Amino acid sequence: MSFVFTPPAVVGLAIAGSSELFPVRRVYCVGRNYAAHAREMGFDPDREPPFFFCKPNDDASIVPVPAGKTVGIPYPGQTANYHYEAELVVLIGEGGRDIAVEDAAKHIYGYAAGLDMTRRDLQMKMREQGRPWEIGKAFDFSAPVGVVRPRAEAGEITGGAITLEVNGETRQKSDIRNLIWSVNEVIANLSTLFMLQPGDLIFTGTPEGVGAVQSGQTMKVAIDGLEPISVRID
Ligand code: MN
Repeated sequence: MSFVFTPPAVVGLAIAGSSELFPVRRVYCVGRNYAAHAREMGFDPDREPPFFFCKPNDDASIVPVPAGKTVGIPYPGQTANYHYEAELVVLIGEGGRDIAVEDAAKHIYGYAAGLDMTRRDLQMKMREQGRPWEIGKAFDFSAPVGVVRPRAEAGEITGGAITLEVNGETRQKSDIRNLIWSVNEVIANLSTLFMLQPGDLIFTGTPEGVGAVQSGQTMKVAIDGLEPISVRID
């Protein structure tokens, strides 16, 4: 049987030191996972259970960013407050459900630097109205992701600097150690809600210092041990 039109291709992410690609399945994101960011968003950063939202997994939403290159993405419609969120992205290599925290690391294929781009005005409006966040979070070009560093090579990432610069000026600066819910705890919790599968991505949350970007500006996300990403707003 053939399809009535060509089905969309699976998004593949470049892997450091490999000619093979990492095939993307689902894209999960953690909300408010750094205390200082929770506070700047008007919330008490008490350790409540993590919460999750999703982004589309298609090639209109995910923007692979090659090493050493700047990729341009369009300024999206219907927003006047378009925000960056620098995040550590964790890539699942082995699926499972109800994964124990102490077993979580072996489910990780690798890591990458990413951006959870956000139409903040629309997200806030939906939040106030108790409506879903998709129009604020799950739009086209909203998920740039860099080159994948395999865990087999990088080891487990539990700390290290995470920074975001806009046109060379530092706007976000924190440490992966400051995650309220660690990577392994996030995997354990998420796996009670969804059956994780190889290819799943988890955006682990952003530190404080989120803010707006304009057309013509370039964002650079750097995380210790990972290939940085450079993304320009066209
Ligand atoms: Mn985020």
